[in-house]
Amino acid sequence: MNIFLVYGGKSAEHDVSILSAYSILKEIYYNYYTVTPVYITREGKWLKGNEITDPSQVNSSQELILEDIGEGLHFSDIPKENTIVFPVLHGPNGEDGTVQGLLEMLEIPYVGAGVLASATGMDKIISKILFKEAGLPIVPYFQVKVIDWHVNQEMVISEAESTLSYPMFVKPSNMGSSVGISEAKDRNELVEAIAKAFEYDRRVLIEQGVQAREIEVAVLGNEDINTSVPGELVKKQQFYDYESKYISNEVVPQIPAKLSEEITKTLREYAARAFMAIDGNGLTRVDFFLTADEEIYINEVNTFPGFTNYSMYPRLWEKTGLAYGDLIEEMIQLGLRRFKARQ
Ligand code: ATP
Ligand code: MG
Ligand code: MG
Ligand code: MG
Repeated sequence: MNIFLVYGGKSAEHDVSILSAYSILKEIYYNYYTVTPVYITREGKWLKGNEITDPSQVNSSQELILEDIGEGLHFSDIPKENTIVFPVLHGPNGEDGTVQGLLEMLEIPYVGAGVLASATGMDKIISKILFKEAGLPIVPYFQVKVIDWHVNQEMVISEAESTLSYPMFVKPSNMGSSVGISEAKDRNELVEAIAKAFEYDRRVLIEQGVQAREIEVAVLGNEDINTSVPGELVKKQQFYDYESKYISNEVVPQIPAKLSEEITKTLREYAARAFMAIDGNGLTRVDFFLTADEEIYINEVNTFPGFTNYSMYPRLWEKTGLAYGDLIEEMIQLGLRRFKARQ
């Protein structure tokens, strides 16, 4: 079996993708797969590795790019038999259905969510509409289009202030790793936060800020849906931003999260329902808020969540009884089964 491991990408989560790919590569290199690394540069050029360096000889994810990658990839180079593409891509141009659409056209099986689940899962406005439709509790929010912001900033601010209260969270609709997200505690911060979010997307959401614990549940499956034990991101600070996620590593996961049986059951059920709401396939991590008076809100889903050995998604499975390598194998098998089923 050939695996084309696609990583990097044009999104702001390029570096995170390299870390995820590096961990996956280290795991599958010694299996019976033939792995071809395909690195997408920040500019969007697809480069193919000729021969893969033994990961044990590589000391950092940076060297993985520098040593292994050579000529440009032609899509016709990807064999159609015994092949699966593994898109280890986070954020727009990878986790959002674009690469998935390309692979559908090429008729090549791939790991993870299909076009619809990727596109709806990546888009925070659309996924909230689907969650609401599925009866899942969401925090109050409203959307702002770039045109509205340019035409009448005061109206946007006054709508925010009349429907929500500070602190608010402002987010680009399509992004991840907290990139472009800010907490706004007053009007000045709100204006700044909206301008910043528009650097990443044409559509932005303004959300009610909540004081809450952050609980995540991993989902794995196609038609058969499995959920992991919930895990908690135990934070020193309220806002789990990019810096605390990848640079200072301040967040300690507590798995399983300390929760009542009832809350655990509800969260797992909600996670499965969210997966169905976006027409999920393969995998998804579902992020929740849990307030002190036990209100649950679904925050968002990630159809290709962070995937290093220490990332939440694989750790949730590990604590549920599925080791990192077995999880990857299951994801590959789910991708192959899904491809077969739809032919
Ligand atoms: P990722 O995909 O890496 O999980 P993301 O960029 O898709 O992140 P969110 O998960 O929506 O973004 O938000 C990032 C973080 O911001 C949350 O983990 C939480 O710490 C904080 N946050 C987001 N929305 C709210 C909110 N409404 N109230 C309080 N905190 C929030
Ligand atoms: Mg996300
Ligand atoms: Mg994400
Ligand atoms: Mg999140």
